[in-house]
Parts: sequence; structure tokens; C-alpha cells
Amino acid sequence: AKDAGRDTHRFYNPAMQAAMEQRAALEDGLRRALAQDELRVHYQPQVDEHGVLMGAEALLRWQPPDRPMVSPGAFIPVAEATGLIVPIGHWVLDTVCARLSEWARHPTLGRLQVAVNISARQFRQPDFVDQVRETIGRHGIDATRLKFELTESVVLDDVDQVIHTMGALKALGLAFSIDDFGTGYSSLAYLKRLPLDQLKIDQGFVFGIPDDADDCAIARAVIALGHSLRLQVIAEGVETPAQRAFLARHGCLAYQGYLFGAPGPAEALEALAYAG
Ligand code: C2E
Ligand code: CA
Ligand code: CA
Ligand code: CA
Repeated sequence: AKDAGRDTHRFYNPAMQAAMEQRAALEDGLRRALAQDELRVHYQPQVDEHGVLMGAEALLRWQPPDRPMVSPGAFIPVAEATGLIVPIGHWVLDTVCARLSEWARHPTLGRLQVAVNISARQFRQPDFVDQVRETIGRHGIDATRLKFELTESVVLDDVDQVIHTMGALKALGLAFSIDDFGTGYSSLAYLKRLPLDQLKIDQGFVFGIPDDADDCAIARAVIALGHSLRLQVIAEGVETPAQRAFLARHGCLAYQGYLFGAPGPAEALEALAYAG
């Protein structure tokens, strides 16, 4: 009884209880968002070394009615903890495929490749490959227009299973990028075994370029590593011409960041593609 009393005391720690209530409210809100069409996909341009549009990253947005937009940093962790990321992630893929199908016959938009973030929990679903195949087939899109961004938390799972799943998706035509590279714990021996196409330098390292010597050294090392693994290297969070120039000088020839365009609705990307 004494122990139970102590546990009760701990449970009612006001800060902790507030956090739990906030999380529960967010979870309820997210369920409603999915059911009532409050989620949106925004697209952020990705450009090549000449600044020419080559694709976009799909980024989830939650727009509750009559309230400010909620950023994914606030709700993705809750979606992951509750498992809601699985239906939400599936909705994102479906929405992106619908857009790709609309763009397919346009000369510029039809060439774009869209990167979709896949959380570890979604990737691990036993029917993930079947769902992807079904979605691509239903929209009748060319799978080579799709790229999946995986973080090191995905690839840290059972390596043989991950390779098997990635192989099945690659056979459909999809490409893979390793996201936030350098922030996780995956070993190089491990990465070498994965059928990757691209490595993405985390914006945390891009931020300090060109003034922070450590960030510069890490960015250069990541670019060199990517090339030695024969991967395309893209930098995210590129905000200044000086960052772009440094990255280009060291062989990183693909960029994403506010310097080239913020995430926005599909119409904004379409306008950019028409202009270019
Ligand atoms: P991420 O995959 O690392 O995405 C890049 C983040 O950097 C995005 O934040 C983007 O808006 C932001 N960003 C882009 N350009 C710049 C820049 O020049 N400077 C700075 N400082 N930031 C920039 P966002 O949209 O808030 O997304 C946050 C995270 O939420 C993403 O990080 C990703 O991990 C997750 N996320 C977003 N959409 C999805 C999704 O559909 N599924 C899953 N599983 N996760 C998602
Ligand atoms: Ca990403
Ligand atoms: Ca990233
Ligand atoms: Ca990041």
C-alpha cells in the first residue's frame, strides 16, 4: 500500500500529468485530423548544381480548423509513439502518388522525383511493401518518380530484414535516401550493405558552414564518404550562397533549403516548374 501510495504520488506530479494530458489531446487531435481531412502535404524544392529543379521533399502539415498550423516536430513524435504514424504515413504516400499521377504527362513536372519520409515503425509493417505496390498501381504512376527517405533509426533494425524490404521496393523502381546523415549511430560497414541511392547531409552540419570549422570538416567528410559509396549527396537546410558555394566546392551538387524555396503547397512547386 505504501508503494502504491508512492507511485500515485509520482503519477500526480503536476508537470508530468500536464505532459501526459497534452500528449493525449494531441493524439485525439491527430485521429480527428486524419479522419476529417486536416492533413496536408507540402513540397520543398530540391535543385541540382545549376539550381535547376529536380524534385521535392514531401513534408506533412497539420492545419486544424481556425487554429495555427501545427509543425511536424510537435506531432510526428506522438504519431510515432501511438502507432498513428502508420495510417498517416500511408495517407502521405497516397497523396503524393495522386499528385505524381497528375504531373505524369507534364514535360517538367513529369520528370520530378518526390522524396517521402518513412518512419521506422511504418517501414517495419509486415505489409509495407504490399501497400506501396498497391498504391503505386492504383495511381498508375512510374515508381522511379518516388524516393523514400529513411533515417538511421530504420537501418539500425534487423539488417537482413531491412535489406530484404529495401530490395523488394527497389525492384519496383523506387530510390532510397538516408536522411539526417551523421546524426545517428549506424556503422559504415552496415550502410555499405544497403541499396541506397542518396545520402542527405543533415541541416545541423550545414548550419555552421562556412564559419564553424567542425561543421565544415564533417560536411566534407560526409560528402567524401557518400561519393566513396557511390551515392548522390544532397544537403538540406541550405540558406546562404556561402553554404552553397562551400558545398559545391567540395563536390555536393544537390541542395534543398530556404535559399531555393521553402516547403509550400503543390501549386507553389507547380508554379516554380512552369517558370523554369
Ligand atoms: P526532415 O526530414 O529533416 O525535414 C527537413 C526539415 O527542415 C523540414 O522541417 C523543413 O521544413 C526544414 N527546412 C527546410 N529548409 C530549411 C532551411 O533552409 N533551414 C531550416 N532551418 N530548416 C529548413 P519540417 O517540415 O518541420 O519537418 C520536420 C520533420 O518532421 C522532418 O525532418 C521529418 O523528420 C518529419 N516529417 C515531416 N513530414 C513527415 C512525413 O510525412 N512522415 C514522417 N515519418 N516524418 C515526417
Ligand atoms: Ca527528410
Ligand atoms: Ca532531414
Ligand atoms: Ca534534419
